[in-house]
Amino acid sequence: MSDPCDGCGQSVEDALARDVRLQVDRSTVDSQRFCPTCFAEWITKYQEQMSPSSNHESSDADIIVD
Ligand SMILES: [Zn+2]
Repeated sequence: MSDPCDGCGQSVEDALARDVRLQVDRSTVDSQRFCPTCFAEWITKYQEQMSPSSNHESSDADIIVD
C-alpha cells in the first residue's frame, strides 16, 4: 500500500517518498508527502521564497525531511 503524493496526486512508494515538515517557532505549520520530482520542485520554490531578497518574514522557519 502506498499513499499519494501531495504534489501530483500519484501514488508513491514509501521507499521513494519524502515527508516534509515545515516548522516555525517549533510548531509544525505544514506537512506534506512528495514523490522525488515534486520534492525537488518544492525545495526549489521554498529556497526561492527564503532567499535574502524576499526575506521579509521571520527567519526561524525550518524544513525537516524525514
Ligand atoms: Zn508528486
